[in-house]
Amino acid sequence: CYSFPTTAAKALGALYRYSKTRTRDIGKPIDFPNVDKKKAEIIISQAQKDGKPYMSADRVYELLAAYKIPVAAWWLANDVHEAANAAESIGYPVVIKAESSSIVHKSDLGGVAINLKNAAEVKSAVEKMEGIFGAKNLKFLVQKFLPGGKELIAGVSTKPGLGHLVMFGLGGIYVEVLKDVVFKIAPVTELEAKEMLSSIKATKLLDGVRGEKGVNKEKVIDIIQRVSKLVTDFPMITEMDMNPIIAINDNVYVVDARIKIC
Ligand code: ADP
Ligand code: MG
Repeated sequence: CYSFPTTAAKALGALYRYSKTRTRDIGKPIDFPNVDKKKAEIIISQAQKDGKPYMSADRVYELLAAYKIPVAAWWLANDVHEAANAAESIGYPVVIKAESSSIVHKSDLGGVAINLKNAAEVKSAVEKMEGIFGAKNLKFLVQKFLPGGKELIAGVSTKPGLGHLVMFGLGGIYVEVLKDVVFKIAPVTELEAKEMLSSIKATKLLDGVRGEKGVNKEKVIDIIQRVSKLVTDFPMITEMDMNPIIAINDNVYVVDARIKIC
């Protein structure tokens, strides 16, 4: 019972919008026949045996690759010689990141060295990290350096009653300062993934402003759906954080990822 017609009309309008949201056709999630579910299963069960909440970097990147989520060329090196060899085969310039289960925000602690151009720079970066973190149990993720791209972020969290939430936004300051990210409940369909790209506030930056090159949206939309498929297939993944995903020259690569399992 409404005292004024305006309130009644507003309530009717809200009901109409709600029913449109509930009944609209968002399509079906894509099944992605080319994902390697068997391999992913093996990686996850090995990670569970490790008994640590966060998966090690090599398992993380192998898992992403099994679901055809593009990652920057990488190698996990045990020592300085392996790191130099890996850098040689990946091709300079490279990035080196300190890898150990106790290191979370690597760059804050001096665990990320970018734009290393030769073996001498690799050696000094490795030695510096051994000085900071101690050589015991420390490994080095050697990765292709991808300068000048746009940084994006995607991830997954879980909420009781909702299951997995897939998140997307622009990386760097956009996520830290402006919190410009959007969420969808998994499984995410192609239409929903497209809407995620268009519903962030800085969506225009994805197209490129003032002559700047835009990002390959198709590839980003594909990644979002594959991440959604991965966590839907493996509900024991409780958290994923891919920050940044670098969009560069019409390609998109994950360069930093963390996955939590239970
Ligand atoms: P963390 O988030 O643990 O501090 P990241 O791996 O995200 O470590 O690296 C920190 C920053 O370094 C990234 O946000 C990005 O700006 C830059 N960076 C990392 N890896 C690369 C890479 N392969 N190419 C270019 N820039 C990179
Ligand atoms: Mg990061």
